Amino acid sequence: MENDILLHLKEIQNRINKACEKAGRKAEEVQLLLATKTVSSERIKIALAAGYRLIAENKIQELKEKFEDLQSSTHTSHFIGHLQTNKIKEILKYQVSCVQSVDRLDLAEKLQKKLESENKTMDILIQVNTSNEASKFGVAPENTLALVQEIAKLDRVRIQGLMTIGLFSDDESKVRPCFQLLKKIQQDIVQANIPHVNMRELSMGMSGDLEIAIEEGATIIRVGTAIFGKRIYPDSYYWNENIV
Ligand SMILES: *Cc1c(COP(=O)(O)O)cnc(C)c1O
Repeated sequence: MENDILLHLKEIQNRINKACEKAGRKAEEVQLLLATKTVSSERIKIALAAGYRLIAENKIQELKEKFEDLQSSTHTSHFIGHLQTNKIKEILKYQVSCVQSVDRLDLAEKLQKKLESENKTMDILIQVNTSNEASKFGVAPENTLALVQEIAKLDRVRIQGLMTIGLFSDDESKVRPCFQLLKKIQQDIVQANIPHVNMRELSMGMSGDLEIAIEEGATIIRVGTAIFGKRIYPDSYYWNENIV
């Protein structure tokens, strides 16, 4: 089990290196985030011990369950799932440093309020629905700039970039435009020159499409299956809570 995870991490690192080389980028520009949904703390710790530091959950329940166990291993915790406003206090309690899935103003406003009351700040990414599927969360591409402008007024939430899931498909010609669109939106936002808005992070690319994402400018790739193996739940369980 341990060997599997270490072997898979090596394979992923090789894929990152190759994709960066092809794209004329430095491998250090791309951070590997371990998507740890359904993965036990034991298995997560193997990856952390190998030197990887960035992990992310999709559900508050799992964040909570693994929190104590992971205290002994140095790591940074992001949140990549749909976040309900009534779960914000847990995000702070379990020391999430960045919510990558902010896709609406009311969520950012409630986050701001909670952060104010605890005298804290938090990094966020704006999740964009680049594939325009009704089943996916994320702000519509055409509304992203306006949302960023509104959230930028909130001084406790610090926008650091954008996140997308993209189309889940084996057809590269359908996947790539999603990543290109996120890059385009990033550039438009940079152009708009909004105070307090940072656009350095592009979180895109997963087990099946990380090479394409890296070629299109990803700075964070989020990988689960290719490191920890297949999950028993369908991804729809995580991406759209209305389905179950
Ligand atoms: C599960 C998940 C990933 C990782 O997907 P894999 O295909 O297992 O690599 C990335 N991003 C989000 C938002 C996820 O929920």
